[in-house]
Amino acid sequence: VDVYRAPVDRIVRAMRAVGLDDVLAMPAYSAIDAVALAEVLGGFAKLAEEVITPSDRVGDRRPPVLNLETATVTVPDEVAAAMASYVEGGWIGLSVSGTHGGGGFPAIAGLAVHEMFGSANLGVSLGPMLTQSTIELLEQIGDERLQRVVLRRLINGTWSGTMQLTEPDAGSDLNAVRSIAEPIGDGRYAISGTKIYITWGENPLVENTVHLVLARTPGAAPGVKGISLFLVPKFMFDDDGNLGERNTVWCRALEHKLGIHASPTCVMEFDGAVGELVGPLHGGMDAMFIMMNLARLAVGVQGVSVAERAMQQAIAYAEARVQGRGVGADRSGDVAIIDHPDIRRMLADMAVTVDASRLLTFANSIAIDRAAHHPDADERARSQRRADLLTPLSKAWGTDQGVRVASLALQVHGGMGFIEETGIAQRYRDVRIAPIYEGANGIQAIDLVGRKVVRDGGAALAELLDEVRTVCAVGATLPALAAGATAVAALADEARVVGEWVIANHPTDPRTTLLGATKFLELLSVVAAGGLLVQWGVAEADQPTAGQLASSLAFFAQEHVARAPRLAEISIGMGVVDGVLSQK
Ligand SMILES: Cc1cc2nc3c(=O)[nH]c(=O)nc-3n(C[C@H](O)[C@H](O)[C@H](O)COP(=O)(O)OP(=O)(O)OC[C@H]3O[C@@H](n4cnc5c(N)ncnc54)[C@H](O)[C@@H]3O)c2cc1C
Repeated sequence: VDVYRAPVDRIVRAMRAVGLDDVLAMPAYSAIDAVALAEVLGGFAKLAEEVITPSDRVGDRRPPVLNLETATVTVPDEVAAAMASYVEGGWIGLSVSGTHGGGGFPAIAGLAVHEMFGSANLGVSLGPMLTQSTIELLEQIGDERLQRVVLRRLINGTWSGTMQLTEPDAGSDLNAVRSIAEPIGDGRYAISGTKIYITWGENPLVENTVHLVLARTPGAAPGVKGISLFLVPKFMFDDDGNLGERNTVWCRALEHKLGIHASPTCVMEFDGAVGELVGPLHGGMDAMFIMMNLARLAVGVQGVSVAERAMQQAIAYAEARVQGRGVGADRSGDVAIIDHPDIRRMLADMAVTVDASRLLTFANSIAIDRAAHHPDADERARSQRRADLLTPLSKAWGTDQGVRVASLALQVHGGMGFIEETGIAQRYRDVRIAPIYEGANGIQAIDLVGRKVVRDGGAALAELLDEVRTVCAVGATLPALAAGATAVAALADEARVVGEWVIANHPTDPRTTLLGATKFLELLSVVAAGGLLVQWGVAEADQPTAGQLASSLAFFAQEHVARAPRLAEISIGMGVVDGVLSQK
């Protein structure tokens, strides 16, 4: 029931299929090879299986507790031990550059660890995920002092980071942020306001926490243009990192949630808490996007994490549960349900969907790494366009599929799926947050249309579709892959037509194009993931694994490509929807 086998081999093969070797060939990673990387992942896999997974059920059953008087939170010992094992292993800094004490591995290594961590205990993995986003932000725009004093402590895990955007009236729409930052005369600010839903906002497992907070200075322009980003420590610290007095930022309540119970979700009160500006004044949104883009990909991976574990649980249950007669040649006796065609269909769907969404998130990560480290400037710019385009797809499609796979896994369990004992219900409850936080999936679709497709006139989209076309042309020459590759290529052509329609209509009729945005995102995700599955099939065409990958592609073509939204569905028009709602 509570078993998880980290699929390191499959993860490494997926990495190689989407371009790991090209990443390792970049000068930034000259000291690392694929064998060393696989060994490192193997080391984490053991930790995930043996130490972290056993904390998962405890974390679900015994959520953190807040002491209101002291504003401190306690978590079960098992959760603390799981977190400690991750921190002590140095895993937080695996993909951080060596300059500040990181491990210097490519981003995709950290992402794979994040996937396995999330499979083992999603709620615990959220804390380090936000610390890693904080590290990225400070590496990019932190001043010398913050880099020298704070980065090292975040990387070694003695301090943690949080991300504080959301307020009661400011969720998807950060124009409405009301928290105030008043200058106190020495270059610093006094921050006041209330933030809600703050993940690991109070963290009892570290010495100090730095909160990254969006707030408005007096007289700043209304809307997001007037927002700045501040670093507000829980304990003040000097230039050597010695801790001083307690700052006036407090956890005032913990939310009671559907899932991810191990993670304390905090209401935070800032009562004139001292903070310092990070990045330019009124540049808060751009600064926060550094953190958010990384976190969006990481949340997309959470969909993969939960889907992988749910699939493993479903297979194990289906092998053990005996029910009904076989329908094949041998009808003589009762069989395990894994013998039933409909159960096998669901398991295959899960397996293919896990692979497809993993490939998409990995390709996203590789684009980010190439954008940062490729020696050629044009290639860096192209990779940045690719990363920007793929991020909403990874986040939204990855998490939607995570929910769908968890639901299928629950279905395989029959009645026991609805009962807490088997643990599959926890997968379903845990993953349900992923399409909501880090920018709800509907917001990702708007981002895709407005910022990622319309703004550059479809340039990044065309590059992606051309690449899918090219890989499918190769796939079409291999008999085992030909049908799947041809189907994906045809869908890429469909996506091109839809993209042109979106670009032509968005400026004048955004209600119609945004009505179709979520469908458009799904269509593009299926095209992108389908292209990557073809690429994997081509890469291993002469390996013993070729038959399995060809079957996966054929299944994906049926399950995802054939059902992907087409232009008619995407351009349906508001009139129809308003008609449906007219009597509600
Ligand atoms: C467990 C948990 C942990 C979280 N952790 C953090 C954290 O660490 N830090 C942090 O800052 N926040 C955090 N959040 C907040 C989270 O990011 C927000 O809940 C999310 O951004 C959605 O905002 P909202 O809840 O106000 O929903 P709303 O903005 O009210 O959205 C409700 C619905 O309306 C849709 N919608 C809203 N605006 C539009 C629009 N313009 N067009 C189309 N549809 C729209 C949304 O897609 C959504 O479906 C967390 C939330 C939860 C539940």
